[in-house]
Amino acid sequence: MNDKVLKQSITQVKGIGEETAQVLAELNIYTVEDLLEYYPFRYEDYRLRDLTQVAHDERLTVEGIVQSEPSLMYFGRKKSKLTVKLLVGNFLIQVTFFNQSYLKNKLSLNETIQVTGKWDMHRRTITASEMKMGPSQQKESLSPIYSVKGSVTVKGIRRFIQLAFHQFGEHIEETMPQNLINKYRLPNRRDALRMIHFPQNDQDLKQARRRFVYEEFLYFQLKMQALRKFEREQSQGIIQKYDLEKLQTFLDSLPFPLTNAQKRVVNEILADMKSNYRMSRLLQGDVGSGKTVVAAIALFASHTAGYQGALMVPTEILAEQHAESLKSLLEPFGLKCELLTSSVKGKRRKEILEQLQAGEIDILIGTHALIQDEVHFQKLGLVITDEQHRFGVGQRKILREKGENPDVLFMTATPIPRTLAITVFGEMDVSIIDEMPAGRKIIETYWAKKEMLDRILSFMEKELSKGRQAYVICPLIEESEKLDFQNAIDVHSSLQVYFQNRYEVGLMHGRLGADEKDNVMKAFSNNEIQVLVSTTVVEVGVNVPNATMMVIYDAERFGLSQLHQLRGRVGRGSEQSYCILLADPKSEVGKERMQIMTETNDGFVLSEKDLELRGPGDFFGKKQSGVPEFKVADMVHDYRALETARNDATALIQSAVFWESPEYEHLRESLQESGVLEGEKLD
Ligand code: ADP
Ligand code: MG
Repeated sequence: MNDKVLKQSITQVKGIGEETAQVLAELNIYTVEDLLEYYPFRYEDYRLRDLTQVAHDERLTVEGIVQSEPSLMYFGRKKSKLTVKLLVGNFLIQVTFFNQSYLKNKLSLNETIQVTGKWDMHRRTITASEMKMGPSQQKESLSPIYSVKGSVTVKGIRRFIQLAFHQFGEHIEETMPQNLINKYRLPNRRDALRMIHFPQNDQDLKQARRRFVYEEFLYFQLKMQALRKFEREQSQGIIQKYDLEKLQTFLDSLPFPLTNAQKRVVNEILADMKSNYRMSRLLQGDVGSGKTVVAAIALFASHTAGYQGALMVPTEILAEQHAESLKSLLEPFGLKCELLTSSVKGKRRKEILEQLQAGEIDILIGTHALIQDEVHFQKLGLVITDEQHRFGVGQRKILREKGENPDVLFMTATPIPRTLAITVFGEMDVSIIDEMPAGRKIIETYWAKKEMLDRILSFMEKELSKGRQAYVICPLIEESEKLDFQNAIDVHSSLQVYFQNRYEVGLMHGRLGADEKDNVMKAFSNNEIQVLVSTTVVEVGVNVPNATMMVIYDAERFGLSQLHQLRGRVGRGSEQSYCILLADPKSEVGKERMQIMTETNDGFVLSEKDLELRGPGDFFGKKQSGVPEFKVADMVHDYRALETARNDATALIQSAVFWESPEYEHLRESLQESGVLEGEKLD
């Protein structure tokens, strides 16, 4: 196959020697193909523009006649600012060059020059990064800009790619199946590579991009779908033969009828449990949509099939609350539920571990400590995690490998945008509770400036006087010199003064020990504290139905999904609840975010918006692993291509042709290389 030619070392390119090869290695370019696939991350547009057509802040190139002697100013030793007036068509504008003082001697009155840079429409100024003398030759148009390192320059990369094209261009073969190329009218690989490196016009770029975006997504989704298929086929999951009659009795005992959405997801979960593949299902449902009872039903079903169950949550407080709810639901039916966290120690711990191994405990609830080595179940059938959406793919895999292939259900109240649901969680099945129990009151949300604090506090006083409680959320714990954000400790002391002798004000933050946190939380839960000042540690799952008001300081600092999570701590009882966002965002995006919070209570809408405004990397917070990186594609903007690729990948993986026809050889090879097929026999 000719394609092997491209797998040769770049030193085979005439004009690239050992030394250059070493430098290119730093950019992870080793083969001819690596070089050809080293795509530009943007293009400099040297086509002359009409200033009336250019938006504020856009980059552009214009040609004009110098109208003034250049003036040069120095700041310190190295910094300088050079300005000159330029007549562009009928416009007199200013051009500014920073730290390019050497251009001063080149700029003389009535000379024609071209400048490239950023257009400030309001100041009629171009901050120029480049200048060329003389009238445009119209030869150059779109110049690719590559990310470079060390001694490699952008010009250097351009030249190397040109050399590689010249020598190996004809060896570039198609790697995508022809039928997909035809179906979507994509340019072939050789043309697309040429167009992405040497575009003649915008159309070239668009076509090349279209192909690479689809290609990247297709390869990625093939891996996801293959993983999903093999996990299903190979997993020796347990067939949980639950007792339908007992289950019905349990359902009848619930204090409320299930919503239609709850019924649907319960059926999806039960179908997984009784099948022989291992369940790996993501259950999404907004705060308050009633996931706990779904978990209880699944655990109950598993119990009637003769298995133990585990519920794993990220914090001790949450573990305790879940233990309480599950006990009240399940113990009347004779199921023994126990709580295991790191604070359960000594004799008690030993006892629990023994009973668990002996099969005397039916449901174990706890932090992730409960799937660690010392914990042995007698017959674990179902593991449920709650609020563990920050798990990466790797951690999910580890969890599935614990125990004797238990079914696993991941519950999350952070609605995951469609895009991420099919990328980050692409190998899982997804169930969604998209309906709230009847009669839920919408949390009234207001956006206010800090000047209104007095009014907000008198409103709070009114709520407290009705016997309700309130949360006050701050982004930081202590005062920080750099950041002028309200901090929990300060706010706590001033509120203590404000509510002196009338209401108790508590303080909660991440630096408290686990015991202290628990004590504060319990005191709030028991209404011994009426106002709880806290950092975001209350974000997850905490349930105090008597709290009807939340004030969030510096709300612009939080993501929409996080604000929504926080807000979900109120509105859990039958009373009308309120959420006040104290924010003074400077940017348009910031204002838009506050505005949308006041307009919707729908976590799914917010999550989509959050992703759009902040990008996938930020969505889960900084540490999130598992968000795939694409070279050309953008998960948010290219969502439709992503969805198309996913559908195509799913269909391909299921079809016999895919595994046999030479047309799909490249795609199969990519799966092989990725290790997805490891241990898999391909007949
Ligand atoms: P989340 O999905 O946030 O975990 P919970 O499971 O804590 O929500 O449920 C929130 C509240 O709604 C609980 O008090 C629960 O008893 C109640 N609830 C759950 N399902 C229903 C239903 N179908 N009808 C009425 N109330 C329900
Ligand atoms: Mg919950």
